[in-house]
Amino acid sequence: MTVNTPIYMDYQSTTPMDPRVLEAMLPYFTNLFGHPSSRNHSFGWAAEQAVDAAREQVAELIGASAKEVIFTSGGTEAINLAIKGVADMYAEKGRHMVVAVTDSRPVQDVVKHLVRERGFEVTELKVDKEGRVSADDVRAALRPDTVLVSVMMANNEIGTVQDMAAIGKVAKEAGVIFFTDATEAVGKVPVDVQAMGIDLLALTGHKIYGPKGVGALYVRRKNPRVRLSAQIDGGGHERGMRSGTLNVPGVAGLGKAAELCRTEMAAESVRIAALRDRLEAGILAALDEVSVNGSRSHRLPHNLNISFAYVEGESMLMGLKEVALASGSACTTATLEPSYVIRALGVSEELAHSSLRFSIGRFTTAEEVEFVIGRVVETITRLREMSPLYEMAKEGIDLSQVHWSAH
Ligand SMILES: *Cc1c(COP(=O)(O)O)cnc(C)c1O
Repeated sequence: MTVNTPIYMDYQSTTPMDPRVLEAMLPYFTNLFGHPSSRNHSFGWAAEQAVDAAREQVAELIGASAKEVIFTSGGTEAINLAIKGVADMYAEKGRHMVVAVTDSRPVQDVVKHLVRERGFEVTELKVDKEGRVSADDVRAALRPDTVLVSVMMANNEIGTVQDMAAIGKVAKEAGVIFFTDATEAVGKVPVDVQAMGIDLLALTGHKIYGPKGVGALYVRRKNPRVRLSAQIDGGGHERGMRSGTLNVPGVAGLGKAAELCRTEMAAESVRIAALRDRLEAGILAALDEVSVNGSRSHRLPHNLNISFAYVEGESMLMGLKEVALASGSACTTATLEPSYVIRALGVSEELAHSSLRFSIGRFTTAEEVEFVIGRVVETITRLREMSPLYEMAKEGIDLSQVHWSAH
């Protein structure tokens, strides 16, 4: 068994680019360098053609039409354009939004900005212990002044996939715009903006084996026609919603990445889910006091989030240097905060700190999975041998009843 270390198991943070995507991008850096808005010569036409083709490719992956795709600099910009664009455009209707508690950091930050700077009110949707939002809760949270419902399609930490069609139906019935951060879902699970009743959808290239620095926002044009206030003014590009010369090589790469996902997703998901299931089974069979965070049945095929009781995320990462992983603690400026997503499931702070996210993908091999199972089991076992808490728990002492004396 040969594996090269370090092994990359952080695909939900970013994916390596598919070589076929790079191939599709290269001509637009050199020979085909034209400006896609230059109408008077073949340099411009070639660039425009590439952008049009990419728009089709992205649209096809999500069941949209090409005119509904607005290219941006990535997921974060698409999220900003969607939420702030609605806030500005529909200001007369109201200043209330409904947002899932596990929604992504960029969504949370944009909404916080609107609350702080613009007097918006937010109703936070709770999730069940698997991380799912209930459509009934969405209905109950709606008000006459609600302008937006935001529920991310698939979570970046725990991989939980939401029942988008049910939530979309509630939003549609109430005539409220339904936005989703789908950056983690697109290309991994089937997405259909029609069947799911989605009005606005953010996606990004670098989570689907495309380049960084390019993404897209789907903006519904029919039933209803969603209008957005531009957040970047300039030459009126992208139907006036997002000015600025397009990153043509990036856009071409995003298009190619979308096409590859569309044609290969069905087979790829089966292969990747099998590797993930093997990783999960291998770890769970060899270690006690471990628990899977999120949903077993509604989960992205490439995600596995596990809490290893009595060991701390940072020390696990230190011990697992040959594997690139994410932990359930977010490094803020001074402190280590447990993941708000895992906390929202009702998991304790300690167990949230004890969690690791394994995310695999297109280039993960069975050998890598076996190697990582071995290293994880070895590392956790060693760390627990040094853990007095684990020892006490094994002796049957109820740790919640222990009174610690302060020295
Ligand atoms: C990666 C990611 C983003 C941000 O996309 P960028 O292209 O990096 O700006 C937003 N939301 C989620 C859930 C993501 O995983």
